[in-house]
Amino acid sequence: MNCAGIGYDLHRLVQGRKLMVGGIEVAFERGSQGHSDGDVLCHAICDAVLGAAGLGDIGTHFPDTDPKWKGASSLVFLEHIRGLLENRHFRIVHVDAVVICEKPKLGPHFPAMRTALAKALGIASSEINLKAKTNEGTDAIGRGEAIAAHAVATLSSD
Ligand code: MG
Repeated sequence: MNCAGIGYDLHRLVQGRKLMVGGIEVAFERGSQGHSDGDVLCHAICDAVLGAAGLGDIGTHFPDTDPKWKGASSLVFLEHIRGLLENRHFRIVHVDAVVICEKPKLGPHFPAMRTALAKALGIASSEINLKAKTNEGTDAIGRGEAIAAHAVATLSSD
């Protein structure tokens, strides 16, 4: 049986933080605010995968009140979720995601992101598709105040 899950996340872009997206650092003048490393793409994928498996959401598994996750690499979240899936005999079939920000251009970084995400999830990078959008200068994302991501994960179970 195949199950699909959806994930969404948004982080403010602020000075003095690294911009982590898809498990890699992207050179930019601002970075995403957050308790962990603020990786909006990893977080959206976490929620998509957890949703497909019927395992709740990222906040349940990695509460931002827990000092253990302060500054944590979000790839660790994906690795942890990979273990949860394995215990329940779920397999990730495909992940599709779109990242929305006005700047910087993310497309050139997608190969490295797909490699990092695939490694954390224990799947092939060909099973991860990434897309980039801007918000055409409208709203908080368009003004460069935030970065957001949507993800859909498809899992199969025995
Ligand atoms: Mg988040």
